[in-house]
Amino acid sequence: MQQLQNYINGKFVSPLSSEWIDNYNPSNGEIYSKIPKSKQEDVELAFEAAKKAFPEWSNTTLEKRSQLLLKIANLLQQKLVEFAQAESKDNGKPLSLALNIDIPRAISNFEFYAHALTQFGSEAHESVGKNTINFTLRKPIGVVGCISPWNLPLYLFSWKIAPALAAGNCVVAKPSEITPMTAYLLSEICIEAGLPKGVLNIVHGLGNEVGQAMVEHPQIKAISFTGGTKTGEHIARTAAPMFKKLSLELGGKNPNLIFADCDYDKMLQTTVKSSFANQGQICLCGSRIFVEESIYEKFKNDFIAETKKLKVGVPSEASSDLGAVVSEAHMQKILGYINQAEKQDAKILTGGKRVEVKDYENGYYLEPTIIEVQSNRCQLNQEEIFGPVVTILPFKTEEQALEMANDVRYGLSATVWTSNLDRAMRLSNTLEAGIIWVNTWLNRDLRTPFGGTKDSGVGREGGFEALRFFTEPKNVCIQY
Ligand code: NAD
Repeated sequence: MQQLQNYINGKFVSPLSSEWIDNYNPSNGEIYSKIPKSKQEDVELAFEAAKKAFPEWSNTTLEKRSQLLLKIANLLQQKLVEFAQAESKDNGKPLSLALNIDIPRAISNFEFYAHALTQFGSEAHESVGKNTINFTLRKPIGVVGCISPWNLPLYLFSWKIAPALAAGNCVVAKPSEITPMTAYLLSEICIEAGLPKGVLNIVHGLGNEVGQAMVEHPQIKAISFTGGTKTGEHIARTAAPMFKKLSLELGGKNPNLIFADCDYDKMLQTTVKSSFANQGQICLCGSRIFVEESIYEKFKNDFIAETKKLKVGVPSEASSDLGAVVSEAHMQKILGYINQAEKQDAKILTGGKRVEVKDYENGYYLEPTIIEVQSNRCQLNQEEIFGPVVTILPFKTEEQALEMANDVRYGLSATVWTSNLDRAMRLSNTLEAGIIWVNTWLNRDLRTPFGGTKDSGVGREGGFEALRFFTEPKNVCIQY
């Protein structure tokens, strides 16, 4: 059975403890590889390698840094199919999604920051009348930590690593222990691309061991984290007394507001995607759907009909719209929420059950599920389920829709469907979320700030925001 290895100081190494964790294939429930169960001492090795590499990497010319990132992107492009197959197998997502979204986006992340770093300038302020000029240097921080989740494994891993490296930092990175495979394959590419040793180090293992050791490390001065709100809170509590820079991209419970004056067909097709893409395991999925009363019954019938057309099946088959959810534990968590529907006075309109796929009976397949709720205050509308489950609820007025949309602890994204420009602007101003989509969803320009408000996190990724996060500004004031 394949044993993955850590990538430290430019080489593959086993964990010092020689302990391993089972890695499951969600499509059939079988263990198909082992990953290092690394500990604090492995993180220390990675840190030492990164620290040693930092003086040279931080002084490597922008052109050279850019070329290396482009080389990684090119190699990923050449191995697109291999990476997509690995991502689909490791995560359970349809191969078509990995081929069209996950891996192309990981390639774009490296390409984008390869270019962005050459355009990232420092600022100067002339103090007129005082014979004084200020300029602000943007120095790399040193050794930084990147921690990512399992839902978009390489996509989110590279979304952190690329800007961190572009800004001149050396990195200790940890992918999710649930989906480690493409991060491992990325280490191979880094070696092939000639990335200098120690610049990027990838340590595999559990969150409460490897992740915790990174967050506790006094000399890892910044942590970029994407994951659950509870983990984010724990990281903030641990890191705050050491005054670390923190970027926390956390959970969501995003509202999807549908008005009667929208482009109905486009809305319906997009809403099916925003509900069930990646088995609903995208932090930006619109899991709370609010529909204007006058079109509620029509929407409900059409949405159920479209959802019933979706095929749940083996991730590698082209005909599968939904694959498997990521793990047995996650499947049970989702089913737990679905099973509470009745107690919460809610009605399952379609779905709600585990799917048995022929020859893959032990895989973690779930039906796409629509639940009609009576109130936005119920648990199904207040807690992140992070699976193929959405709720629907009618509203009478725009004010009521806005109130329900904002009545939640999260504030990552929101979607509005309307052809009324005034309403689109009003809601864009008042919805409590870091990302608002009007008449579209998951439409991304990598230059824009990405992140959430409220319990969805602090800080923004994307564009120059990430380069600012991964650098320390230093102002120089000269009088002449
Ligand atoms: P998680 O919080 O369980 O784990 C995320 C990562 O943190 C993993 O690598 C894990 O090993 C690590 N970790 C766990 N405990 C840690 C600790 N004590 N110290 C340091 N690291 C630790 O999240 P998950 O289940 O992998 O991912 C799902 C969550 O991620 C959902 O809540 C989802 O909304 C969120 N998410 C948010 C965004 C966003 O951009 N806001 C994007 C994708 C996913």
